[in-house]
Amino acid sequence: MFRPRRAVALVACLAVSLFALTPVRAAAAAAKDVVQEPGREIPVLYDVDVVVIGGGLSGFGAAVGAARTGAKTLVVERTGYLGGWLRGSGLGNVLAIKGWRPSIEEGVLADVAKKLVALKAEGYPDLETVKKDGQFLVTNHEMMPQAFQEIVEESGAKILYFSTYADSIVKDGKIEAILVQTPVGRAAIRGKVFIDCTGLATVAAESGAPTKKAEAFMGLASWIGGVDVPKYTEWLKTRPKEGSPELKKWLEDKIQHKLTYFSSTGGGPDMMNYPWDDWWERNSGAYGEAFKAAVEKGELPLYYKVGEKGIVSIIEGIKPIQFELFGGVARPRTYVVGVDPTDIKAVSEAHAKSAQLLFQYTAFLNKNVPGFEKAAIIRLADATIPRAGRSIESNLFDDAKENINPPADKPAKHDDVIAILQRGEKRGAYEVPYGAMVADKIDNLLAVGKSADGGIKFRTHMLAVIMGQGAGTAAAVAVKDNVKPRDVDIRKVQAELRKAGIPLPEKKEQAAAAKTP
Ligand SMILES: Cc1cc2nc3c(=O)[nH]c(=O)nc-3n(C[C@H](O)[C@H](O)[C@H](O)COP(=O)(O)OP(=O)(O)OC[C@H]3O[C@@H](n4cnc5c(N)ncnc54)[C@H](O)[C@@H]3O)c2cc1C
Repeated sequence: MFRPRRAVALVACLAVSLFALTPVRAAAAAAKDVVQEPGREIPVLYDVDVVVIGGGLSGFGAAVGAARTGAKTLVVERTGYLGGWLRGSGLGNVLAIKGWRPSIEEGVLADVAKKLVALKAEGYPDLETVKKDGQFLVTNHEMMPQAFQEIVEESGAKILYFSTYADSIVKDGKIEAILVQTPVGRAAIRGKVFIDCTGLATVAAESGAPTKKAEAFMGLASWIGGVDVPKYTEWLKTRPKEGSPELKKWLEDKIQHKLTYFSSTGGGPDMMNYPWDDWWERNSGAYGEAFKAAVEKGELPLYYKVGEKGIVSIIEGIKPIQFELFGGVARPRTYVVGVDPTDIKAVSEAHAKSAQLLFQYTAFLNKNVPGFEKAAIIRLADATIPRAGRSIESNLFDDAKENINPPADKPAKHDDVIAILQRGEKRGAYEVPYGAMVADKIDNLLAVGKSADGGIKFRTHMLAVIMGQGAGTAAAVAVKDNVKPRDVDIRKVQAELRKAGIPLPEKKEQAAAAKTP
């Protein structure tokens, strides 16, 4: 937590206790090698109502929600595009899933649908086709960020690119301003409410709000271009569905993990320990024997280790797709487990090893898999990032008690619902509570998606957008009514969200009020 200039002398004396407030500084202090940052005057670049930090899916929703509800809004993003993981780390992927909620007809997702049609995105000639599809399969990485940027700008919110959140100036339990590092030096941004959309609760942690960490697997995505898809598909037809029992035993011995079926477990906790089940199911029949031979000859590592517990391995995404624009493309991703996403040295090592493994894997495919002879990596994602990892700890939400997959006949209700998560028709609806986004100890801070309490539970991409819209809307209502986000009139927020096209259930007294003439 940064202290204003006046306090420079104090900073020197209190260095250790101040450092103890944030994880990065606690680690630095523990290392007994620290430098003291001198106080200095920082120019204020913006003074707004709502500051959204992180322009990923959560940040996109938050910025539009706040601006459309009348707040002067700024979104601060460290890269030069909006969309975060979806573009930079997922390299284009699916946004929304047919039969799930939030659907593409809700809130700002409906604007994305219209924008993709206007931008002539591949596969979306008209709105009817988009609706029928029920999802956006983003084949072109550049399309979605452009849609997000146009929608944010049309909402009246401003975007500040190339600016990395660095610190908060906190006074009396409130963030007065944040400091950002730009390519041309530091700048300050003042605001009334701050929304942490960094995906790692970085603003919360650095501002002194309680946070917690949970293991969540990371990944580095890539695109392998130049794949002859028809040739690969024909070859695949000649291959067995699954590898032999001997191959299975060989792999189990190597990885010391009993292989099961990914599709029947849906991943599950085992996935965290060793994610080879998916690999076995999808790839063992196709090229398992060649894989074993390459590993035995030392041409391909089975996995890389990172530190004591970290593992980098590849298990998914080889199945190539024929795109109109790009031709035949396979999209393998590494799986990284056992790496603390807040340990930057370990993350950097995992990223380097992921890239190394992806290149080695491609060389293996060139040699052993028909259709891949001329294939090459044409893009590596910008970052190896976690599906979650650090989130706020709100005293308005009890993570341990929450089941986001309730049975179909027993939906999970919350009075302060701001979005509905429903993972397919066979599962019940989960009412996502506003309380999960309200930071403790810092009065004017909300956190969305992976940064919200619940972390990985709320990572689902379309939910991140709609949760963001909920947080942005609540922040704007709080500013208008001059109350803390914690004390905001949730009925007003819910009414605004309904107006914005997010169908939320009417709570008791609302239903009664609606009936009263
Ligand atoms: C490998 C992988 C696979 C996934 N697969 C799926 C899937 O199949 N289905 C699914 O529903 N979800 C999936 N997810 C989850 C996906 O990450 C989330 O849906 C999405 O990232 C949530 O968006 P977000 O905005 O919260 O975070 P992010 O997309 O991570 O966005 C965070 C944004 O904040 C910016 N930022 C971070 N720190 C700073 C800073 N200090 N200053 C300024 N800007 C900053 C980043 O540049 C980024 O733009 C996957 C995630 C990963 C990592």
